[in-house]
Amino acid sequence: MNPLKIVIVGGVAGGASAATRARRTNEFADITLIEKDPDVSFANCGMPYFIGNEIKERAHLLVATPELLMNRYRIDVKVCHQVTKIDRQNKQVEVCDLNHQRTFLMPYDRLILSPGAEPVTPALSGLDSQNVFTLRTLQDADKIKHRLLTCKLKHVAIVGAGFIGLEMAEQLVHLGFFVRVIELAPQILSPFDKEMAFYVQKKLQEKGVEVHLKTSLKSLQVKDQSVVSLVLQDNQEIPVDLLILGLGVKPQSQLARECGLELNTQGAIVTNAHNQTSDPSIYAVGDAALVQHAVTLQPMLVPLAGPANRAGRLAGEHAAMGHSKPNAPVLGTSIVRIFDMVAALTGINEKTAKKLGINYQVACVQANHHASYFPGAQPILIKVLWDTLTHRILGAQAIGAEGVDKRIDVIATAIQLGATVDQLAMLDLCYAPPFGSAKDPVHMLGFIASNVIAGLLQLTTDVDALVHQQVVDVRSTKEVEQRPVPLAIHIPLELLRERLATLNSSVETVIFCHSGMRAYLASQILRQRGFTFVKIFSGGEVFYNLRQQAAQI
Ligand code: FAD
Repeated sequence: MNPLKIVIVGGVAGGASAATRARRTNEFADITLIEKDPDVSFANCGMPYFIGNEIKERAHLLVATPELLMNRYRIDVKVCHQVTKIDRQNKQVEVCDLNHQRTFLMPYDRLILSPGAEPVTPALSGLDSQNVFTLRTLQDADKIKHRLLTCKLKHVAIVGAGFIGLEMAEQLVHLGFFVRVIELAPQILSPFDKEMAFYVQKKLQEKGVEVHLKTSLKSLQVKDQSVVSLVLQDNQEIPVDLLILGLGVKPQSQLARECGLELNTQGAIVTNAHNQTSDPSIYAVGDAALVQHAVTLQPMLVPLAGPANRAGRLAGEHAAMGHSKPNAPVLGTSIVRIFDMVAALTGINEKTAKKLGINYQVACVQANHHASYFPGAQPILIKVLWDTLTHRILGAQAIGAEGVDKRIDVIATAIQLGATVDQLAMLDLCYAPPFGSAKDPVHMLGFIASNVIAGLLQLTTDVDALVHQQVVDVRSTKEVEQRPVPLAIHIPLELLRERLATLNSSVETVIFCHSGMRAYLASQILRQRGFTFVKIFSGGEVFYNLRQQAAQI
């Protein structure tokens, strides 16, 4: 019997995972991995750090070479080969050997597509200049690095304030450049809610990055084949020696389109839970394929390495064996380091919950990443969203210096296992003073949510409504002097019982403290002493200020 022929298009995250898993589950299959670029299985996620010299050796980005894949896995890797056509009827692909400009046909029994995505580029004249770059391939990274090393540069502009754009901003500041970030949206980092993104924006600005929001490129001034300045839509002109476009990506689905596979309106390849396309002998994974979102249950593009690797692994197994576990829905859990700040998220944010009409509640805390009395404790801001009816966790966002990844990973795991928000209070997490607190920030979120669900506490984050409410600030005089909350009646918590008569017990009252704990105590005092409508501002003055300032952008 002829061996099963598995052909894989794209040799990086999804493709390399598919190929190696296929081999591990089928020793006798004939496996070919076709990659149009010179490298396979490289760490795209490490490229900003290679450009910034934090990763010193280019070779460290090469996770597996064609030689290793042949010697260890007997996978035939064809680099500098591009699949140019899929002939579904005859089950064969047309391959172009890019070095020798010759084309040949290769038959398949199972075809796995992991061609990734391509950077979005606006239609503007001048973007073909020699100092304009996108960052997707190792060759892109090489070109940017070469330019940085060989030209005298000062001003760098990055268009697009997503994860990759901001990783590049951080690295280029470290290299001593003056960096400007230009973003069309009214906030950086669109997967975060606005106040959380604003907190990161303040860090960028503190480190000297100039942030331009609600604007984009209008035109480019080009001299000697290089862009020398940018005109923004608000007519500001800014000098530039190097321009990086980080405007996001679109699925690389031309091959799939041309051979008639089903795509969605964004051009992403439609797949089932086994990563099979509308043709069951063709699989699609990674940035080009749709996955099911774990919270919304809708198909969506999640261009991240984790989902691509996991889907590739399952597709490889299914192609090689004819069966595998189904793909688990994804949450889009992601993380970024911006200087000494870390921002991470999982699931959906408030913007998405509102857009989808989900009835949700939100709790915010600021708590230290380990025991406050142990040297080096650093605050983390976390917010969690849950479904008002089912109490299922919908998503979380966290920003801090240390321990952000741990909290978001714990919550992501809880969401994936179907936890309700009050169950966060029960998690048995590891604790010793250098690592955490007996009451971890994740527990605090669980405590707050449990109190809300039990009717012991009402939360608000509505800044606009405050003008119609009785606002009481129970912080100390010193704290209030340093960071006042406008319109608030100041009564330190310790004096609240004595001064109750100065407040109106029959109007809606919102209580503030620094981050929520004292406000909770105050709300219990007021509620038990006859105040009818008492809420606390979730996350206290810290979140209030962020929301207030972010709203003014
Ligand atoms: P890719 O890994 O891009 O691989 C696709 C390959 O297919 C490419 O090498 C391409 O050349 C090849 N190809 C395309 N068409 C053909 C064809 N017709 N014939 C032959 N070969 C073809 N994700 C995270 O989760 N965390 C991060 O920190 C992170 N950082 C990133 C930083 C950067 C700079 C970049 C660019 C991406 C980052 N990502 C990160 C995203 C992550 O790398 C991608 O989601 C992931 O690589 C997608 O895997 P894929 O297999 O779909 O595509």
